[in-house]
Amino acid sequence: PTPRPFNFSAGPAALPEEVLQTAAAEMLDWHGSGMSVMEMSHRGAEFISIYEKAERDLRRLLAVPQNYRILFMQGGGIGENAIVPLNLSRAGVVDFVLTGSWSQKSQKEAGKYATSRVAASAEASGFTEIPNPASWQIDRDAAYLHICSNETIHGIEYQQLPDLKALGADIPLVIDCSSHIASRSIDWSRVGLAFAGAQKNLGPSGLTIVIVREDLVGHALAICPSAFNYELVAKNQSMYNTPPTWGIYVAGLVFDWVLRQQEGDLTGLAAIEARNIRKAAKLYAYLDGSGFYRNTVAPTARSRMNVPFFLADESRNADFLTGAKARGLLQLKGHKSVGGMRASIYNAMPEAGVDALIDYLREFEKSAA
Ligand code: PMP
Repeated sequence: PTPRPFNFSAGPAALPEEVLQTAAAEMLDWHGSGMSVMEMSHRGAEFISIYEKAERDLRRLLAVPQNYRILFMQGGGIGENAIVPLNLSRAGVVDFVLTGSWSQKSQKEAGKYATSRVAASAEASGFTEIPNPASWQIDRDAAYLHICSNETIHGIEYQQLPDLKALGADIPLVIDCSSHIASRSIDWSRVGLAFAGAQKNLGPSGLTIVIVREDLVGHALAICPSAFNYELVAKNQSMYNTPPTWGIYVAGLVFDWVLRQQEGDLTGLAAIEARNIRKAAKLYAYLDGSGFYRNTVAPTARSRMNVPFFLADESRNADFLTGAKARGLLQLKGHKSVGGMRASIYNAMPEAGVDALIDYLREFEKSAA
């Protein structure tokens, strides 16, 4: 069979080919059950076994401590922008650090349910950096502080999560890690709640992962919809309502795939992270070394997952994309709010895909000279 093209979509995004093949092979008859996973009761033994393995594997993969609950929900990242304040804000003050479109959106939405403050913002830089945590004006009485740990559109990633306690604010940190979950380890000692839509690094859209410290559960506002009340969802093992069963199944195949990755002596998440570091480093090095392309993000804040870049001659953008597609390099167009190009190189992007992109960048640069 001809190899599949390399897909640089920001999300829904490429999945490991092996995962797609397994899902295809099991489509009509999952493990001799005579049913597709899509046709199973979420309360039946078959699906419960899929769900329990997925939860166990995710806990192992991300080293989630026992006092954190893993919830499989619906509503996506944008849903969580409302669901988090509905559950955690106690209608008080909530703080945000703005580093791009996604943290901005979250801050606005929280204002419907709580007093939504901005503790720091990188807007003046055009969202090309992360404000130094020492300069954040944190409200010490806020219910939590929210950051987007990887800004998918602006290509900004925290290389280290802030230690709020060390900054003098002993309040929970909430992270929207939608676009880099399972690409690197998470320091849970710094995190109260993490949420992520699945459609970048984990599986199909429609599944949202929430990982929340137990003491933060059980304080929802009275107006919080039952299906989005973390306490009800947790008490019912994510089956208060019908969970996104297909998404949980595919994400489970992805967790299993990540756990089996190897790079030298490294396995699992450590192997994936090492590969992600190498993939991003070679792409940024090429962009920085070329006189034709540029990425404008401060080097210390650059995302390993989403790499926005611009051509020196923007009138060539359409040619660039047409040539890329002809070479099997798909979905490189940048987000409309930023323009230019964006290469999303999530876990499932093989290193060969990044190499193929760099070869094309070089070739196009030469042809444009
Ligand atoms: N947060 C981040 C960081 C995202 O990248 C996205 C999707 N691109 C969202 C939130 C919104 O996710 P959804 O569309 O699933 O609600």
